[in-house]
Amino acid sequence: MNTRPRPVRPPHFKHRATASRDAIVSLLDKTLRTAEITDRSVNGLQVEGAADISMVGLAVDACLEAYEKAHGLGCQMVVAHHGIIWEGIKSVTGPVYRQIAFLVKNGINLYASHLPLDLHPALGNNARIAKAIGLRDLRPFGNYKGGNIGFEGAFSRAVTLKAVSDAIKKLYGGPVSSLPFGPQKIRRAAVISGGGTACLPEAIEKKIDLFITGEPSHENHHLALEGKINVVYGGHYHTEKPGVMALGEFLSKKFGVETVFLDVPTLV
Ligand SMILES: [Zn+2]
Repeated sequence: MNTRPRPVRPPHFKHRATASRDAIVSLLDKTLRTAEITDRSVNGLQVEGAADISMVGLAVDACLEAYEKAHGLGCQMVVAHHGIIWEGIKSVTGPVYRQIAFLVKNGINLYASHLPLDLHPALGNNARIAKAIGLRDLRPFGNYKGGNIGFEGAFSRAVTLKAVSDAIKKLYGGPVSSLPFGPQKIRRAAVISGGGTACLPEAIEKKIDLFITGEPSHENHHLALEGKINVVYGGHYHTEKPGVMALGEFLSKKFGVETVFLDVPTLV
């Protein structure tokens, strides 16, 4: 007779589903069209870790602080918008060495998705922001090497710059600033998350009332003034949270694995 006591589980105990790393990587690659999109980031699985995954951490930036949080919570995978391999690795020394060493030592997989995540029509940063602030009839915007990385759309009713700035602040919590140089009644807006200021001329050319991006640019001031356009900067980090958060919901729905957002804000 077996007299061993039954394991006592705390009331919040939930059985964690486990999925294979290869299945997760393959679904992410397929959904995000990783192989088709030209990017400086080497998108996909960047560092290989454990083969079985029960918990995935989502981060804007691949960095030691995010990995430490992920490890502490029991994640076997980190999915980051900004990975560590850009146009190839030159050497595995210094911070790159320490990051890879931490991941390898703790069996954590690192998956990166930069532009494929920005431009995705359902899970991407730009589509998510555009829909969250009420833009409709979304069309691709923001040419980069022959493809579009963002979206433009129309508000159902004209809005003010203050209303959009306040909404972005409330949604993403970043340091929001603006250049109020366009029409007071805003009907059309374009969105490029993160460092998208190179797309401002396209927005001016298309006579868009408001250009929304993450990171402020000094060069934008006179360009926006003379181009008679409003600009809202919602913070590089903060405008790139919605995409990885959406990936977390997607993975948890598809595989039943637990997911957690690893919030490590930058000062930009
Ligand atoms: Zn970025």
